[in-house]
Amino acid sequence: MSKRALLVIDMLNDFVLEGAPLEVPSTRKVMPAIKREIDRAHKEGEPVIYVCDSHEPNDSEFQRFRWPVHAVKGTGGAQVVDELKPSKDDIIIEKTTYSGFYKTKLDNTLKTLGIDTLRLTGCVTHICVMFTASDAVLRGYNIEVVKDAVAGLSDEDHEAALRIMKDVLGAQIL
Ligand code: ZN
Repeated sequence: MSKRALLVIDMLNDFVLEGAPLEVPSTRKVMPAIKREIDRAHKEGEPVIYVCDSHEPNDSEFQRFRWPVHAVKGTGGAQVVDELKPSKDDIIIEKTTYSGFYKTKLDNTLKTLGIDTLRLTGCVTHICVMFTASDAVLRGYNIEVVKDAVAGLSDEDHEAALRIMKDVLGAQIL
């Protein structure tokens, strides 16, 4: 019997709000589907884990990958959007780069909970979602990606990422 957790990746003000520094407009379109998944998970007793960017103000990632400064620890921009606010039993994991596993407590948390399957939602499909999926698969987790609950920057990259996750990582695309 598999045990699943729902991951909500980077649904933060700095990615979602209009005019935000790293605005991904399609995040606003996928919000209802993410909400639907969160409500379902709560009802089914499935852990909900928010995986959230949390950068130092001078994070070298900003220079190295030429991202605008975003999701700085302790700022409003690094907070989960109001519409998807975590409930009290939900888990928040802060990360500093694309993968939710890199130098975070995610793997330990999942092991403690006995999780073997991750259902991924959030943004950006070909960046944090895909790199988190990759790290998850290499660690032996099964992956499900909810197509209408992940947001891409362009349709092309979004579709390519879904295809790669399916064909290369063996993800189930729902
Ligand atoms: Zn970032």
